This record gives sequence, structure tokens and C-alpha cells, in this order.
Amino acid sequence: PFDVLIVGGGPAGAAAAVYAARKGIRTGVASERFGGQVLDTMGIENFISVKETEGPKFAHALEEHVRNYDVDIMNLQRAAALVPGKDLIEIKLENGASLKSRSVIISTGARWRNINVPGEQEFKNKGVAYCPHCDGPLFKGKRVAVIGGGNSGVEAAIDLAGIVGHVTLVEFDTQLRADAVLQRKLTSLANVTVIKNAQTTEITGDQKVNGLVYKDRGTAELHTVPLEGVFIQIGLVPNTDWLKGVVELTKHGEIVVDARGQTSVPGVFAAGDATTVPFKQIIIAAGDGAKAALGAFDHLIRTSAP
Ligand code: FAD
Repeated sequence: PFDVLIVGGGPAGAAAAVYAARKGIRTGVASERFGGQVLDTMGIENFISVKETEGPKFAHALEEHVRNYDVDIMNLQRAAALVPGKDLIEIKLENGASLKSRSVIISTGARWRNINVPGEQEFKNKGVAYCPHCDGPLFKGKRVAVIGGGNSGVEAAIDLAGIVGHVTLVEFDTQLRADAVLQRKLTSLANVTVIKNAQTTEITGDQKVNGLVYKDRGTAELHTVPLEGVFIQIGLVPNTDWLKGVVELTKHGEIVVDARGQTSVPGVFAAGDATTVPFKQIIIAAGDGAKAALGAFDHLIRTSAP
């Protein structure tokens, strides 16, 4: 069995692997796709000490760093179930195999919910974006739309209004769902237009995004908004379905962790976008992975026979 088995090989899992391996304990990483969300990212400009890089390059560097240590990397492995145990925790894989470990770190990340309209896939990284902290500065002085009027959409619109030229917030419902304080802040901004009761039907473009088409749900009329960027903010879904009923999750599916990354199951830790950690970013996930590995190590030295 492993001492630490990490499920998920994004920035959180990679950092956890390096920290665990450096303790000289038996470490494994099982992941569906080593690298994680970073593989789908173009420019990364906010990982401190790396002025700018590209997602696939960053993912490669993560893997190279982990491979520098004695870590058993099991790629293309999807975990299907976690079975708690007194001494050993079992991870059942989708292919039928099973892995056992004295502690587990879950770092299966999250995925942005897609809006599934024509243009979304085509213009990803060419004007279609999901993360205002990441990509906001790319649209300095330009016109953007934010789709989604929940807390994350309204926060994104407020954030972007300080950087870009103009923000159009498009909400499907007849009212925004964000907290009142955020809505007040939003409506106080001169360069923000809010369009409610509007269904986005298409993101248009040539090489890059040049507009957004929405249907007024009251009149069924189609309208086009010329712009350079569209931020889709209709939810971030943690990859935690396989843990339901076993590990405590929030109603949004985030794994509940304490300050050391400990979950509700003894010996099971979690890190990164899959958890309740506020703000989903690479540097935060990496720091979180390091923390969970140290938490797991601390757990091991307290629970193992001398
Ligand atoms: P992830 O990167 O999501 O990794 C999860 C890992 O778990 C993957 O290896 C995945 O294959 C694996 N996995 C999932 N389910 C299972 C399972 N059941 N069994 C086994 N393995 C599983 N952040 C920034 O800081 N700067 C940026 O510029 C930036 N740009 C972004 C651009 C895009 C397009 C996207 C999508 C995100 C961006 N982010 C950016 C956010 C950043 O990528 C995430 O915050 C970060 O990758 C989270 O790391 P993680 O390790 O928690 O999860």
C-alpha cells in the first residue's frame, strides 16, 4: 500500500506529490489527465515567479518536477469510489482495479460549466473566457460580456469594469441572483449594462470573438452586442460526484476541509478547486496541495506504530 495516495494530477496534486515524496514516504498519484485544467489554458501570467508561460508548458513542468522524485504516477486512471478503512483507505478505479493507502489526498479539481451555444468551443481562448482573475487583463479597455447574474457573474462584472472599457452582464432570469450588496455595487458602475430575461444564443466571431447574440425572452427578438470578450460565469462544478455520501460535501459539491486540508473522513485530505478553498487559482491550488501533504504526513506520524 501507499503511505499517501493522491487522486488528481493538477497543480494541487502535483504539489502534494512533491511535498509527500520529500518526506521519504511511499507516494502515488492516480489521475485521469495529469496537468488538469492547466492543459486547457493558454497564457498564465499570475503564477508568482513565472512572469508568463503557457498551460501545456506549465503542465509539463509540473509533471517533470514530480518525476524528479520517487512517485508512482498512474495516468489515465479515473477514481470511481473511496472506501474508508481503519488502517487502509481504498480507492476503486473505474477500470476495476483498486489502490490502497494509509492516507489519501483528493485533488480532482473542478470544471467550468459550459453554456453550450455555437461559438463557445470555437472561440475558447480567442475571446471566450471563464476566469476574470486570469484573463481580465487581456481585455484592457475592450468591450466584454459576462454571462450569468449569480454571485460569481456579478463579482466578475464588477472586477472587469475596473479593467475593461465596457461590461454587458447578461442574465437569463428576470432578476439577478447575486447578493444585494453586489447588485448595488454593480448598478453604481457607469460602464456596466445589465440585460435581464435574455438567453444567449450564440457567440460570434471571425478569428476571434466579435459579438454575442441574445434572445429577449419577453419578445423573442434577437439582439447582437458587438464586443471582444465573453466571460461565462454560470458555475464551477467540482469533480466530486464519486465521493457523495462518503466524504462531507457542501451543497455545491465542494469537499469540506479544515485549515490542514483534513476532510470529514480520518486520513482523507483534500486540496485545490475540488474543495471549499475560496478562490480557484493555480497558485492557491498548489499551496493547498502542499498543505494537505503536510497534513497527511502529520496524520501518519501520529497514527502509525513507533
Ligand atoms: P485541476 O487542475 O482541475 O486538476 C484536477 C486533476 O484531477 C486532473 O488531473 C484531472 O484529470 C483529475 N481528476 C478529476 N476527476 C478525477 C477522478 N475521478 N479520478 C482521477 N482523477 C481525476 N488559474 C490561474 O491561477 N491562472 C490562470 O491564468 C488560469 N487560467 C485558467 C484558464 C482556464 C481555461 C481554466 C479552465 C482555468 C484557469 N485557471 C487559472 C484555474 C486553474 O487552472 C485551476 O484553479 C487549477 O488548475 C486547479 O488545480 P487543481 O489541482 O485543484 O485541479
